[in-house]
Amino acid sequence: MVSLIIGFIALFLLIVLMLVAIRIGVNKEKKELAEEPSVIHASGIYSVVRKSPRADLLRKRPAAEDIRKYLSGINVDSAGASLSDRDKERLACSFFNSIDENISQIEQGDRDGVEFYYYDFEGDDPVCARYVDKAQFVTRKDIFRHSILIPPFHLGCACRIKAHHGSENLRDTTELRMRPFLTLENPEPRLPDWTQTARVS
Ligand SMILES: [Zn+2]
Repeated sequence: MVSLIIGFIALFLLIVLMLVAIRIGVNKEKKELAEEPSVIHASGIYSVVRKSPRADLLRKRPAAEDIRKYLSGINVDSAGASLSDRDKERLACSFFNSIDENISQIEQGDRDGVEFYYYDFEGDDPVCARYVDKAQFVTRKDIFRHSILIPPFHLGCACRIKAHHGSENLRDTTELRMRPFLTLENPEPRLPDWTQTARVS
């Protein structure tokens, strides 16, 4: 009988200890969540995640050596026009200049609290013409989810992303005739492969 009571007490203590351990675990998790550096800033219509997309995008875009290697193996662009060594050098340089330019646009936009960005073209871009229209827009949240929405999308890409300095919801305005690049029907970005090559104009 005594051993049964001791047994019950031991079981009771074990259960109490387990409950305490679970409680500590839950609290620790809560604390860790609270301590995570907050990148979410409430901003107007909805909260937007603002963190430079530079590192993420550079991981997804080809490295300079991959681009040079690819270019050394082709003699014509995607339209079949011949490419000189000078053309290839310009293609490689413009690719990285464009990445810098577009990311800077978003970093500055984040300092200004920009929520909407739209696509613009700095010249002919027969490759993008099949994928992106001028003035289609993406939200900062779209960019956070898919950094690949930041141009250049391919070699010789003339597409640029621009901050839209307006606080209205562009989905409801026809003023600029803007329409979203990502829609409920097409929630994933559909963009050209980087090896598609357009001549830099
Ligand atoms: Zn393009």
